[in-house]
Amino acid sequence: MRDPRYDILFQPMRIGPLTARNRFYQVPHCNGGGYRDPSAVAEMRAAKAEGGWGVIFTEQTEMHHSSEITPFIELRLWEDQDIPALARMSERMKSHGALAGIQLAYSGINGPNLYTKEVPLAPTALPIRTFTNDPVTARAMDREDIRNLRRWFVNAAKRSRTAGFDLICLYGAHGFGIFQHFLSRATNQRSDEYGGSLENRARFVREVIADMRDAVGETMALTLRLSLDETIGDLGFSNAEVRDFIEMHGDLPDLWDLAQGTWEECSGPSRFKEEAAQEDLVRGIRALTSKPVVGVGRFTSPDVMVRMIRSGTLDFIGCARPSIADPFLPKKVEEGRIEDIRECIGCNICITGDMTQGMGRCTQNPTWMEEWRRGWHPERMNPKGESGNVLIVGSGPAGLEAARALSLRGYDVAIAEARDEIGGRVTRERRLPGLSAWGRVVDYRAHQLSQRPNIETYLASELDAAQILDFGFQNVCIATGARWRGDGVARQHVVPMAMDPGLAVFTPDDLMQGRLPSGRVVLFDDDHYYMGGVLAELLASKGCEVTLVTPAPYVSDWSRNTLEQHAVHVRLAGAGVRILLNRGVAALRGDGAETNCTYTDTREVIPCDAVVLVTAQAAEDALYRDLLARRTDWADAGIRSVKVIGDANAPGPIAWATFAGHRYARELDMPELGDAMPFRREVTALAR
Ligand code: ADP
Ligand code: SF4
Repeated sequence: MRDPRYDILFQPMRIGPLTARNRFYQVPHCNGGGYRDPSAVAEMRAAKAEGGWGVIFTEQTEMHHSSEITPFIELRLWEDQDIPALARMSERMKSHGALAGIQLAYSGINGPNLYTKEVPLAPTALPIRTFTNDPVTARAMDREDIRNLRRWFVNAAKRSRTAGFDLICLYGAHGFGIFQHFLSRATNQRSDEYGGSLENRARFVREVIADMRDAVGETMALTLRLSLDETIGDLGFSNAEVRDFIEMHGDLPDLWDLAQGTWEECSGPSRFKEEAAQEDLVRGIRALTSKPVVGVGRFTSPDVMVRMIRSGTLDFIGCARPSIADPFLPKKVEEGRIEDIRECIGCNICITGDMTQGMGRCTQNPTWMEEWRRGWHPERMNPKGESGNVLIVGSGPAGLEAARALSLRGYDVAIAEARDEIGGRVTRERRLPGLSAWGRVVDYRAHQLSQRPNIETYLASELDAAQILDFGFQNVCIATGARWRGDGVARQHVVPMAMDPGLAVFTPDDLMQGRLPSGRVVLFDDDHYYMGGVLAELLASKGCEVTLVTPAPYVSDWSRNTLEQHAVHVRLAGAGVRILLNRGVAALRGDGAETNCTYTDTREVIPCDAVVLVTAQAAEDALYRDLLARRTDWADAGIRSVKVIGDANAPGPIAWATFAGHRYARELDMPELGDAMPFRREVTALAR
């Protein structure tokens, strides 16, 4: 049962006219599903309700059609038609006694209105500030616009109440919400009563909250989400001004929801930010107000949470990513099962769902966003099928997740691992600069495996097809991973690159195994995710003179989707890495790398002692193909199925491997789907 030192986390807490059952507060977070997949999003929130969260919020909900953020798909509450989907959401959030919150967003200078074609409205006329630098300018709001917007907020508040929500969060954080745009001198350069002094810049939020209180305040709680620092110096809504504002308006909302600066800061990845990273920015604010304060910080440790409360820093523990990685985090604390918490690794793969308008994924929790689509519960597996045992070859993230989930289904599982430790790529990658928290992918599963009676792990056991046929397992799951290619093939080169054997060539696997180049090194990144940047950092720390060459316009281009790209560039520049963008490597010569401009093909040789190719990975599927070649022997060996999963099937990020492992475990012994879809979709109905 619960350790008494965590009791404080379970105290019921007042928020305006309401009481939250505990201090676990799921702050608004996106998920890639948005208005396109309302049932999937509702069921995702329902899992958190069951997992014990006291307060659960939607993601940002656009509250009027004159401000929207296409191509991103969050939620919409533009008219009554939008209410049923949101009512489903609130009903599922409240299904286990949580309070249901909706975050209302008016995006102002951040909304390009690519879908509605309305002219964006903002405090001051400026170009729209989006990731995609849309060629759109916002018009400055006049007094009538402000009156209209106040009315639209009231309309949205009433619709939120009709949709069954308990709380409304007004979004003024991350540079995305109109409240911040009014509060900041950078985006509010007005000379009327809404601009100038802090008192004036705060007028709009005061008016909106007063209007909404009149309309819904008796039954609903109103929270205000602000950034603790706009991070653009004194011109912006700095931490000092945030404190002044809260001191002047201590009782304005029913709760202060304080996020870090930009979204990149607030959702800082573990590579660049520790747990509780916003502590300095938030400390002391609670003394300025009588209202409760919630803050975030990728909290996964209940001890850190307790420290936040006991030190008087926070009243509520705000979590987005930790609630994604483990929707049952509060319940596990309550039941005294701390070691069962599936800790967020801070990789920000979850954010790529929003950034790509794909479907959210989580490296640690492969069931995330599949609760409705595939009926996957984050804690419970489907019943066991008719066979009894499984041999898993390979203990990387795919094999370990398959083993964990299969054992919960009731199968006897054996894992064979060629090396003398489990973990596959994660065990190697966690030793790279900044990636130690990624080791939680293995640590969590290693502990779960150690608690199960029906799993055996065999280390230093490199298996071949003959041995597997001898063993007589009914099901064989090949999760043998991948290796980095050394021939330059990826995107620039679809066939091997021309290479002079006189030049030393290294792959990421060489570096991770401790075989390092020295001297002048050219690192060619045609992979574009984290590995190139991480290895450049490693080599620079070992004294190499590193030039990173990439055909992309950004270093670690895809990490823009994990909100890391900016920090990657800053770190590499700080480490003295020379960064060459929009350049490929056409050929390797004896004296260096022959680079070429992506646009003009202009060549330039960069003299160097060694080249590191961060290009592509090739599946280690030889064992699988050997087994396929002996398919006629399977029946005699008692084998019913042989499948290949994870990187051995098709290499990708770690989240793809844990998903593949989980899917394998769910689908073993299930009827073949044939040509049918493997998951449910929500299809828009035609309007009458
Ligand atoms: P994934 O990301 O798909 O889980 P990894 O590369 O992380 O893949 O892990 C694959 C693991 O499989 C590695 O630890 C590797 O040592 C192991 N492995 C590869 N081939 C064999 C084999 N024939 N027998 C046993 N283990 C193997
Ligand atoms: Fe945490 Fe990564 Fe999962 Fe996001 S995807 S919740 S950062 S483990």
